[in-house]
Amino acid sequence: MISAALLERVACPVCLESAGCAQCSSPAGHAACGDYARRVRCACGGPDKVRLRAHGESLSCSCCGGAYALRRAEGYADLAPPRPVGDLTQYADHEFQERLGTTDAEPVLSARVKADMMRRMLAPGAGQAVLDLGCGAGKLALYAGRDGALAAGVDVAPFFLARAAAAVDLVRGDLRRLPFRKGAFPRAYSLDVLEHLDEAGVVDVLVEARRAVGPGGRLFVYTHAMESSTLARFQRAVNRLARRLGRAGFIDHEREALRKSDHVNAIRSHEHFETLCAAAGLEVAERRYYNVVVKAVVEDLGLRLYEQARRRRARSGRARSPGSGAPPPVPAAPPPGRLARAAARGLTWLLKLDVVLFGGIRTGPFFGLLRPRGGAGA
Ligand SMILES: [Zn+2]
Ligand SMILES: [Zn+2]
Ligand SMILES: [Zn+2]
Repeated sequence: MISAALLERVACPVCLESAGCAQCSSPAGHAACGDYARRVRCACGGPDKVRLRAHGESLSCSCCGGAYALRRAEGYADLAPPRPVGDLTQYADHEFQERLGTTDAEPVLSARVKADMMRRMLAPGAGQAVLDLGCGAGKLALYAGRDGALAAGVDVAPFFLARAAAAVDLVRGDLRRLPFRKGAFPRAYSLDVLEHLDEAGVVDVLVEARRAVGPGGRLFVYTHAMESSTLARFQRAVNRLARRLGRAGFIDHEREALRKSDHVNAIRSHEHFETLCAAAGLEVAERRYYNVVVKAVVEDLGLRLYEQARRRRARSGRARSPGSGAPPPVPAAPPPGRLARAAARGLTWLLKLDVVLFGGIRTGPFFGLLRPRGGAGA
């Protein structure tokens, strides 16, 4: 949706106000926006972004003269930069999204573990504006609004779930040029996003997020560094077994391979991540690691065996139409029944043990709570 509150928060993705500190202020005029990269990284938090003016179904920028569309029927504001900022992830590809098969059901299993870590560490209050950076179809933004927080989502690809488009403010935009005013969202999070960006892209996203959350804001991330723990050896052994079962047809391995096919993995270590945060004027306030021991057995092995078995049963029960072409690349399993949903909720609790028991053991995947440097109080 596009709420009145959202229209108060949006800004031109590529234009900065002239006012700033002694280092980043600049004479008015769009020419000064050419110095964007330097000015936004200023230690002061950088200048604010230029407010947009509404004219019927579009918004306009008085600095660059750009026009942006309000797509009310589709439920989102199109605030993508007029020119591409850098490479796009293949998540922007519609077909790719469809093959991942996202539904609007409440997140369960590891997705729920991540979502609840976000809610615990970020603790968005009722009425507080929360931004989902790289919201995809909007599934998690829907969930983030459940405690009364005002959730909004931004993604480069506008393939939103119908339920998200109806209940959550949505914006099409580039995370490296966020179209929001300074401090518009005191809480923001990004899950499974940073690993899709190169090093410069990671810093760009962190810089933009720092401005969007404002001096007293907080940013939650879930991503991974290229590290591993001894415990991860167990996970790799389970994955090897899963691959073997995949070759034998007992597991559908393509979906997971698709999900990971686009990883750039620019974060080398946790120290490296801290350096990238510092370059963006942020610091790590809290960190928990995600050693997936229970998840490896329950979700990566057990559930995939179960799903594939259901898929096979559904296929053998279905009459084949004669002369049909190649089968779809990733046949979806039939929707789970009530018992399966209850089981998934129970298993979710089991999966939380990975964080409770092993959250202190250093490894690659991690949950991090970031805050602006020196802005802990504000
Ligand atoms: Zn400054
Ligand atoms: Zn401008
Ligand atoms: Zn502009």
